[in-house]
Amino acid sequence: MGVIQELPELVINKIAAGEVIERPASVVKELFENSIDAGATRIELGLEEGGRKLIRVTDDGVGMDESDVPMAFRPHATSKLKTSQDLFFITTLGFRGEALASMGSVARVRLVSRLRGAPSANAIEVQGGRLGESKAAGAPEGTTIEVANLFYNTPARQKFLRTPKTELGHVMDVVTRIALPHDHIHFVVTHDGKPVLNAPPTTDRRGRLAAFFGADLARELLAAEGGEGPLRVEGFAAPPALSRSNTATQFLFLNRRYVRDRALSSAIREAYQGLLQPGRYPVLFLFLQMDPREVDVNVHPTKTEVRFRQARRVYAAVLQALRSALAAADLAPPLRPTGPVPASWEEVRRAAMAPGQGPGRGSLTPPLSQGEREQEGEREQERGRAPGLPFAEAPDHLEEARTQPRSIPAPSLDPFAGAAPPPPFFQIHNAYIIEETPNGFRVTDQHALHERVLYEELLRRSLEAGVEAQRLLMPEVVQLSAREAAVASTILDQLRALGVQAEEFGERTLAVHAIPRLLSNVDVGPLIHDLLADLEGEEVAASVEQRRQRLAMALACKAAVKAGDRLRPSEIEALLARRAALGTRAETCPHGRPTSLLFSLDEMERQFKRK
Ligand code: ADP
Ligand code: MG
Repeated sequence: MGVIQELPELVINKIAAGEVIERPASVVKELFENSIDAGATRIELGLEEGGRKLIRVTDDGVGMDESDVPMAFRPHATSKLKTSQDLFFITTLGFRGEALASMGSVARVRLVSRLRGAPSANAIEVQGGRLGESKAAGAPEGTTIEVANLFYNTPARQKFLRTPKTELGHVMDVVTRIALPHDHIHFVVTHDGKPVLNAPPTTDRRGRLAAFFGADLARELLAAEGGEGPLRVEGFAAPPALSRSNTATQFLFLNRRYVRDRALSSAIREAYQGLLQPGRYPVLFLFLQMDPREVDVNVHPTKTEVRFRQARRVYAAVLQALRSALAAADLAPPLRPTGPVPASWEEVRRAAMAPGQGPGRGSLTPPLSQGEREQEGEREQERGRAPGLPFAEAPDHLEEARTQPRSIPAPSLDPFAGAAPPPPFFQIHNAYIIEETPNGFRVTDQHALHERVLYEELLRRSLEAGVEAQRLLMPEVVQLSAREAAVASTILDQLRALGVQAEEFGERTLAVHAIPRLLSNVDVGPLIHDLLADLEGEEVAASVEQRRQRLAMALACKAAVKAGDRLRPSEIEALLARRAALGTRAETCPHGRPTSLLFSLDEMERQFKRK
């Protein structure tokens, strides 16, 4: 007898659920899409415990009649596709007929629906895939679906759910992605009975963006427009100054569906070419409209990739829209002030050997003239830092060294008595420090090492008395996206220990009262957005300790000197002195990259064929 059997329906649905339903956010996505397909103008979402306990979606769409109520839970049952031809012209968000069947197999689901114009509603419950009886019920026109105790019968999946705050964050991502392109629909979200979002319908896109990302950001956005014929691109791009440390605030929509696409990403990079530092990403919201026959959305339902038939035209249209937005705002590439042209070895050697200069240890970069000194001070202020600030916490004697170069008395037997000792260190390309070592030389990445030094210090102080904070003259009010707000509320205590004193101030707003003294001249808004962006990865939200480390890392990175910063010899000296105190930990930056590379004499001699 053969061994092949057809799988029971419940098993099929559970398998489908594995693909479609990953966490509360995926349930919300499916339910919202159904409500939109049903023509809703108002969609309300109620969550308990980040959706782990309960997700309730109520809409005022067309509703379902008595016979459709149980049908909705049948696998591959849909009202949206009739023939296979329809697959090539999809205008609805759903069409696979899998979502409700999947939910019914992994949660306790209750559906109440009243067809528009019908006298009463019908209700049905589904639990563990078993459909209850449909009963008449009282309810307004439209549909309410409650999904409770997600994965109660699949403990392996339940284990993967995160804290309510993290799940809420994911849900708010989904809500944002769906609500932005549907600005004619009123969206309301509550969590554990508290309001999280209220976005009334609007014809003003900027207004909707303000509801999600705050009026401050919305005000700064530059309108973008492009495309030709049936391909239209419109939306907004933020000026480069409002860049973020990741791409989470880049929203691309195709026919009102959130998408990600490589061609589109490269068009964005191209448009901002030369306007942003490496590792910074523009904030933007672009809405593309095109003939649905030109796109293949029949990819996996939970994926956001699309396939364009004419990717090149889409690329060109997006690039054009962004370029025109940036050009209209007359954005010249922000020329980052760079230090004076790095001195050649020869110049430096001469400066070091010149009699009467009395350069002390550490003053081996060419001494700055008075004019250069002033310029450098100005440059540092332009960069938003008081001169010497990154080392403001250097021990006092180093502070002194900065203002009064010491001379080291030359040993009497030295044939070069009176001349300066050979250079023990030296900065090149305003980025690396070269030091002579007993067996060769060492090249140190100034940013990486400073990052490690500050990181260790921030961590240590956050555990002890707390990081020294500097109060702002006026509290800075930072508007957060719904997603950021969910993250922010969980880390206020850790931020405080690290010197960032902030409190929740109304819905989705933080009032920042103090920031670490190390960062006293950094812009507060971008700092907060970057800190929150860094915590969006959920693995980070796992433990308090990890979050503390991640925050310290982000602060250290912000505060550390950058490649391109010219350092004073005394600053280099202070930095190297602090490395010595850290031992082996100083070998890598907090992200794990090496801080320095050693080159041995041995190796050099081999290369020069001396050996
Ligand atoms: P799909 O959306 O792919 O068709 P679903 O399992 O999500 O599959 O839904 C099955 C069917 O149930 C839909 O095709 C639709 O007819 C009906 N339905 C689901 N949700 C709603 C709703 N909120 N309002 C009206 N009808 C709905
Ligand atoms: Mg659906």
